[in-house]
Amino acid sequence: MKKAKKISLTRSQNMARIKSKNTKPEIYIRKLLYKMGYRYRVNYSQLPGTPDIFILKYNTAIFVNGCFWHRHKNCKIATFPKTHTEYWEKKFRRNVERDIEVREKLFEMDISVITIWECEINKMRQNEEYRGKYLKILRDRIERVFNYEEEDISVQMEVAEKSTPYK
Ligand SMILES: [Zn+2]
Repeated sequence: MKKAKKISLTRSQNMARIKSKNTKPEIYIRKLLYKMGYRYRVNYSQLPGTPDIFILKYNTAIFVNGCFWHRHKNCKIATFPKTHTEYWEKKFRRNVERDIEVREKLFEMDISVITIWECEINKMRQNEEYRGKYLKILRDRIERVFNYEEEDISVQMEVAEKSTPYK
Protein backbone atom coordinates (compact mmCIF):
# COMPACT_ATOMS: atom_id res chain seq x y z
CA MET A 1 0.00 0.00 0.00
CA LYS A 2 2.60 2.46 1.09
CA LYS A 3 4.74 1.70 -1.92
CA ALA A 4 1.88 2.21 -4.36
CA LYS A 5 1.19 5.57 -2.83
CA LYS A 6 4.78 6.53 -3.20
CA ILE A 7 4.78 5.71 -6.91
CA SER A 8 1.68 7.67 -7.73
CA LEU A 9 3.05 10.66 -5.90
CA THR A 10 6.30 10.43 -7.78
CA ARG A 11 4.42 10.01 -11.01
CA SER A 12 2.37 13.12 -10.48
CA GLN A 13 5.48 15.01 -9.54
CA ASN A 14 7.01 13.75 -12.75
CA MET A 15 4.09 14.96 -14.75
CA ALA A 16 4.39 18.33 -13.10
CA ARG A 17 8.02 18.46 -14.03
CA ILE A 18 7.39 17.47 -17.61
CA LYS A 19 4.63 19.97 -18.04
CA SER A 20 6.22 22.82 -16.19
CA LYS A 21 7.34 25.60 -18.43
CA ASN A 22 10.05 28.14 -17.81
CA THR A 23 12.26 25.68 -16.00
CA LYS A 24 15.59 27.12 -15.01
CA PRO A 25 17.83 25.49 -17.65
CA GLU A 26 15.53 26.88 -20.33
CA ILE A 27 15.82 30.36 -18.96
CA TYR A 28 19.60 30.08 -18.81
CA ILE A 29 19.77 29.15 -22.51
CA ARG A 30 17.24 31.76 -23.52
CA LYS A 31 19.27 34.51 -21.91
CA LEU A 32 22.43 33.36 -23.67
CA LEU A 33 20.65 33.20 -27.02
CA TYR A 34 19.24 36.65 -26.49
CA LYS A 35 22.71 38.00 -25.76
CA MET A 36 23.95 36.32 -28.94
CA GLY A 37 21.42 38.40 -30.82
CA TYR A 38 18.76 35.80 -31.52
CA ARG A 39 15.10 36.56 -31.24
CA TYR A 40 12.73 33.69 -30.68
CA ARG A 41 9.39 32.39 -29.54
CA VAL A 42 9.17 30.24 -26.45
CA ASN A 43 6.99 27.16 -25.95
CA TYR A 44 5.91 27.51 -29.53
CA SER A 45 2.73 25.43 -29.66
CA GLN A 46 2.11 25.97 -33.37
CA LEU A 47 4.81 23.41 -34.14
CA PRO A 48 4.91 19.67 -33.38
CA GLY A 49 6.30 18.99 -29.93
CA THR A 50 5.94 22.62 -28.82
CA PRO A 51 9.64 23.52 -29.09
CA ASP A 52 11.00 25.26 -26.00
CA ILE A 53 12.60 27.83 -28.28
CA PHE A 54 11.89 28.56 -31.92
CA ILE A 55 14.08 30.92 -33.93
CA LEU A 56 11.95 31.96 -36.85
CA LYS A 57 14.74 33.62 -38.83
CA TYR A 58 16.69 30.35 -39.05
CA ASN A 59 13.74 27.99 -38.92
CA THR A 60 15.38 26.33 -35.96
CA ALA A 61 13.65 24.58 -33.06
CA ILE A 62 15.52 24.05 -29.81
CA PHE A 63 14.51 21.56 -27.16
CA VAL A 64 16.00 21.80 -23.70
CA ASN A 65 15.80 18.22 -22.47
CA GLY A 66 16.17 16.69 -19.04
CA CYS A 67 18.67 13.85 -19.36
CA PHE A 68 16.70 11.46 -17.14
CA TRP A 69 13.31 11.83 -18.82
CA HIS A 70 14.56 11.95 -22.37
CA ARG A 71 17.23 9.27 -21.85
CA HIS A 72 20.36 11.10 -22.84
CA LYS A 73 22.80 8.51 -24.22
CA ASN A 74 25.96 7.81 -22.23
CA CYS A 75 24.94 10.32 -19.61
CA LYS A 76 25.43 9.96 -15.87
CA ILE A 77 22.15 11.67 -15.08
CA ALA A 78 20.15 9.20 -17.18
CA THR A 79 20.20 6.49 -14.53
CA PHE A 80 17.75 3.62 -14.57
CA PRO A 81 15.59 3.21 -11.45
CA LYS A 82 16.15 -0.11 -9.70
CA THR A 83 12.52 -0.65 -8.75
CA HIS A 84 9.36 -0.72 -10.84
CA THR A 85 11.54 -1.32 -13.87
CA GLU A 86 8.64 -2.26 -16.12
CA TYR A 87 6.87 0.99 -15.41
CA TRP A 88 9.98 3.00 -16.09
CA GLU A 89 10.86 1.10 -19.23
CA LYS A 90 7.46 1.86 -20.71
CA LYS A 91 7.56 5.45 -19.65
CA PHE A 92 11.04 6.05 -21.02
CA ARG A 93 10.22 4.28 -24.27
CA ARG A 94 7.20 6.50 -24.76
CA ASN A 95 9.24 9.63 -24.13
CA VAL A 96 11.97 8.61 -26.54
CA GLU A 97 9.48 7.56 -29.22
CA ARG A 98 7.63 10.83 -28.89
CA ASP A 99 10.89 12.76 -29.27
CA ILE A 100 11.74 10.84 -32.45
CA GLU A 101 8.29 11.42 -33.91
CA VAL A 102 8.46 15.13 -33.20
CA ARG A 103 11.91 15.40 -34.74
CA GLU A 104 10.78 13.64 -37.90
CA LYS A 105 7.76 15.90 -38.28
CA LEU A 106 9.93 18.99 -37.88
CA PHE A 107 12.51 17.73 -40.37
CA GLU A 108 9.74 17.26 -42.88
CA MET A 109 8.89 20.92 -42.42
CA ASP A 110 12.56 21.80 -43.06
CA ILE A 111 12.92 22.91 -39.49
CA SER A 112 16.33 22.31 -38.00
CA VAL A 113 16.17 20.63 -34.60
CA ILE A 114 18.71 21.14 -31.84
CA THR A 115 18.63 19.35 -28.52
CA ILE A 116 20.32 21.00 -25.59
CA TRP A 117 20.79 18.63 -22.66
CA GLU A 118 20.53 19.39 -19.00
CA CYS A 119 24.04 18.03 -18.33
CA GLU A 120 25.48 20.33 -21.01
CA ILE A 121 23.83 23.29 -19.34
CA ASN A 122 25.21 22.23 -15.97
CA LYS A 123 28.67 22.11 -17.48
CA MET A 124 28.26 25.48 -19.17
CA ARG A 125 27.38 26.98 -15.83
CA GLN A 126 30.55 25.64 -14.27
CA ASN A 127 33.04 25.95 -17.07
CA GLU A 128 33.49 29.14 -19.02
CA GLU A 129 35.79 27.64 -21.61
CA TYR A 130 33.31 24.86 -22.30
CA ARG A 131 30.51 27.39 -22.56
CA GLY A 132 32.43 29.44 -25.13
CA LYS A 133 33.08 26.41 -27.32
CA TYR A 134 29.57 25.11 -26.90
CA LEU A 135 27.99 28.38 -27.93
CA LYS A 136 30.20 28.58 -30.98
CA ILE A 137 28.92 25.25 -32.24
CA LEU A 138 25.40 26.13 -31.19
CA ARG A 139 25.63 29.25 -33.34
CA ASP A 140 26.87 27.23 -36.31
CA ARG A 141 24.00 24.82 -35.83
CA ILE A 142 21.38 27.53 -35.56
CA GLU A 143 22.70 29.26 -38.66
CA ARG A 144 23.13 25.90 -40.41
CA VAL A 145 26.82 26.19 -41.06
CA PHE A 146 26.94 22.55 -39.96
CA ASN A 147 24.30 20.03 -40.68
CA TYR A 148 24.95 17.35 -38.08
CA GLU A 149 21.32 17.21 -37.19
CA GLU A 150 21.50 14.07 -35.13
CA GLU A 151 24.49 14.77 -32.96
CA ASP A 152 24.59 16.38 -29.56
CA ILE A 153 26.53 19.61 -29.47
CA SER A 154 28.92 18.20 -26.88
CA VAL A 155 29.63 15.27 -29.20
CA GLN A 156 30.41 17.73 -32.01
CA MET A 157 32.70 19.63 -29.68
CA GLU A 158 34.76 16.50 -29.10
CA VAL A 159 34.95 15.84 -32.83
CA ALA A 160 35.98 19.44 -33.52
CA GLU A 161 38.74 19.31 -30.90
CA LYS A 162 40.19 16.11 -32.29
CA SER A 163 40.22 17.41 -35.84
CA THR A 164 42.09 20.65 -35.07
CA PRO A 165 45.16 19.58 -33.11
CA TYR A 166 47.39 22.48 -34.25
CA LYS A 167 45.16 25.29 -33.18
ZN1 LIG B 1 22.99 14.35 -20.12
